[in-house]
Amino acid sequence: MFLAIFLVVLVCVSLIGVQVWLSVRARTIQLKESEMAAANLAEAVAQHAYDTIKEADTVLVGLVERIENQDMEERELGRIHDLLVRSVAELPQLHGLFIYGDDGRWLVNSQPVLLRGQNNADREYFIHHRDHANRGIHIGPPVRSKSTGDWIVTVSRRFNRPDGGFGGVVLAAIAMEYFQRYFERFSIGQEGAIQLALDDGILLVRRPFNEKSLGRDISKLPLFSYYLPRAAAGTVTFASAQDGVTRINSYRRLEHYPLVVSAALSRDEALAQWRDDVYLDSGAILVLVLVIGLLGARLVRQIRWRIQAEDELVEARNGLETLNHALERLAMQDGLTGLSNRRHFDTALQNEFSRAMRSGSPLALVMLDVDCFKQYNDLYGHAAGDECLKAIGRVVAASKHRPGDVAARYGGEELAVLLPGTDVAGAVAVARKILAAIEALQLQHPDNPTGHVTVSAGVEAFAPVRFESEPVDLIEAADQALYRAKSQGRNRVASNIVGPVWEPPELKASASAS
Ligand code: GH3
Ligand code: MG
Ligand code: MG
Repeated sequence: MFLAIFLVVLVCVSLIGVQVWLSVRARTIQLKESEMAAANLAEAVAQHAYDTIKEADTVLVGLVERIENQDMEERELGRIHDLLVRSVAELPQLHGLFIYGDDGRWLVNSQPVLLRGQNNADREYFIHHRDHANRGIHIGPPVRSKSTGDWIVTVSRRFNRPDGGFGGVVLAAIAMEYFQRYFERFSIGQEGAIQLALDDGILLVRRPFNEKSLGRDISKLPLFSYYLPRAAAGTVTFASAQDGVTRINSYRRLEHYPLVVSAALSRDEALAQWRDDVYLDSGAILVLVLVIGLLGARLVRQIRWRIQAEDELVEARNGLETLNHALERLAMQDGLTGLSNRRHFDTALQNEFSRAMRSGSPLALVMLDVDCFKQYNDLYGHAAGDECLKAIGRVVAASKHRPGDVAARYGGEELAVLLPGTDVAGAVAVARKILAAIEALQLQHPDNPTGHVTVSAGVEAFAPVRFESEPVDLIEAADQALYRAKSQGRNRVASNIVGPVWEPPELKASASAS
């Protein structure tokens, strides 16, 4: 039964264990996939940013080359204007191309009609190039275009005068919208984010788009303050300090431009499908465990009932066996004296006779009869007679010495002792002992010549021979001897084979005296 309980519990626990294990594994796999998706997304955004800037920069490099090697007279400016207009038409990311003189004046740009008299000397990029001899690319913070009011990202280079002094600035304005449209193409869920920032932590553009966030300094956020200084690219999961959402962030610093891109996917959203699956599977497993538990409980109950029923059956069988033994014993016993009854005596005689016949050993029988018992009954009553018989029965029972000996009440006040493996002499000795013991009881019996209860015994013994003797011969012979003991004066042992009849010593003494 404990095995059954153990099995049911084992199955249930295993099911739950396997479900938990599978769920944890599925979660790990889902997170890995999301990390990969975020990394791929960041890579795509980085590549796009690079391509976008690179194309614009190629135009700028060409312009710097041309300006530095040509005189900027009016006709040349006209040709450059055509080139700028063509370039802006060809490159969708370009919002405009501009060339400023060394004092910030608008020299020429991609607008159809040049607005002269405008000045950009106050702009961050202009100041940067004027103050730095460095001729590399400069990417500035997001600004609103002076010409259209649209949000732009500026990419600019310095050009020099023939003498090496500051000649002015060429600038490509890249439409923020170009990045926005690209960012919109990805599915990043409700809480995902994509952003492009300068590597000093100034935000250029971000999805979801929020005008207020443009140009914001995010250098204090963990991405810039903690992760970027440690690795130029990576995928990390942390909770946002702004909205508390935990995101899987993949970021990388661009190799050739001072830019950082990052793509973030909400962990909750990434795990949404997984969570649904876990709920569904767990529900199914729970139902299964419940069913197994219920069936198991029923099984255990049935096993318990069966064990109980088996115990009761065994108990009942034991009871019956005990009763049977008792009945058997009762069926073989004489009710008054407790000795074997006549039926058992007959069976025992038959068996011992056969056995003696096979083994060639002698079988002896002592027949006993109470003397003058009729008078005893008459004098003391039948009940007292019964008591007297009981006392004699106890003495005869005590005369049994070997396991095969049988002491029986043969009938009325006649008793018999069957002694296998005993010859006449042995049987006579047994009979004498019985007589002596009964005399020793000194049961009062006035009508007996001795004054107390005595018995007479007839003894017979022989080794039975097949087809020559039968059990009844032994009984008859012992009976004859008993008859002789009676006729010779009672309270004595008579035998058919041994010569003289044994008499109690005191009788012999009185006989010789008379
Ligand atoms: P004898 O010495 O010749 O044997 O004389 P007896 O009186 O014993 O004569 P007998 O054996 O013929 O008589 C048997 C008497 O024993 C008859 C009966 O009253 C008595 N008796 C037999 N069975 C029982 C018994 O179970 N209980 C009692 N109380 N008396 C019994
Ligand atoms: Mg008799
Ligand atoms: Mg008698």
